[in-house]
Amino acid sequence: MKKQSMLFITVLMLVSVLFTSASNFAPAPAAVDTKGMLVGISMPTKSSERWISDGNSMVKAFEEMGYKTDLQFAEDDIPNQVAQIENMVTKGAKVLIIAAIDGSTLSDVLAKAKEKGVLVMAYDRLITKTKDVDYYATFDNFGVGVIQGSQIIDALGLKDGKGPFNIELFGGSPDDTNAFYFYDGAMSVLKPYIDSKKLVVVSGQMGMDKVSTLRWDGAVAQARMDNLLSKSYTDKRVDAVLSPYDGLSRGIISSLKGVGYGTKDQPWPVVTGQDAEVASIKAMIAGEQAYTVFKDTRELAKQTAKMVDAALKGEKVEINDTKTYNNEVKIVPSYLLTPISIDIKNYKEKLVDSGYLKAEDLK
Ligand code: BGC
Repeated sequence: MKKQSMLFITVLMLVSVLFTSASNFAPAPAAVDTKGMLVGISMPTKSSERWISDGNSMVKAFEEMGYKTDLQFAEDDIPNQVAQIENMVTKGAKVLIIAAIDGSTLSDVLAKAKEKGVLVMAYDRLITKTKDVDYYATFDNFGVGVIQGSQIIDALGLKDGKGPFNIELFGGSPDDTNAFYFYDGAMSVLKPYIDSKKLVVVSGQMGMDKVSTLRWDGAVAQARMDNLLSKSYTDKRVDAVLSPYDGLSRGIISSLKGVGYGTKDQPWPVVTGQDAEVASIKAMIAGEQAYTVFKDTRELAKQTAKMVDAALKGEKVEINDTKTYNNEVKIVPSYLLTPISIDIKNYKEKLVDSGYLKAEDLK
């Protein structure tokens, strides 16, 4: 080997040894001081109790960890939500936690937030069509649908071979990806009974393109149920209604009441729901709504705060799903909590004893 190349190799080796030892002895990066950092919390609406509870629980969780918070509700108005988020970034928020009204409408505002290095969390609802979302904290949304479908199967005794029964299907808002997971989850267990004609969708309306309910609006569900009852059930009884959210269930129940359900001769059909709202637990106690699904928003808020804190401090962020939530640009790393089926038998233990609802509010 030539003298020159020998020299070159020796220099290279020296440099690499130097670099290795330099990195071995480099001081650990200074711990990020998150004290007083501003967290922007953007919730979709106050018209449903759960988002109020989510918002309050998050304020509590973050403030206990030393953060400051800015909590805003957008009253289901998309431009309002965009403006509120923009405002949070202007005020210096280092974190955005967003339960989107329409998951696909935030790309521009999030691109601007990302230019400033803001951490973006999708909260309960997926944010779609953007790379600028870091993590997603939610519940097992497909699992919610499976619970709702299974509640109907159990209540009707379909596994014991009972039937045929008549059923109608409702879906959530088509701009919320959750609505599709709920519907698909429910159909994954109901479809075999529909195929074997043990469940009959008398209206024939199936598929999210036919059964969805824009903005999760109870009045829209009520109007659709009115229509179904007057067109398809003048000479038949509806035995079950798949409803993905308590607010819709109450609209559906009003409609049923209007045509005489809820009596000895015409008992209530099995109506499902979600969110364990006070009014729906009251309806459950009154025998009107058979089921709901409880998603403990206190746990979701705590989990979100934990993920944010870890991400900001450069620590390992706890996730348990890296496959499901494709937002059309990327798969968003997610943490899914477990939903719980609620009926008349367990509502006290799960909701009241756990402190989620107050006994006196249910009177
Ligand atoms: C949430 C549900 C809620 C619905 C209507 C969904 O995104 O996951 O818990 O019932 O929105 O607010």
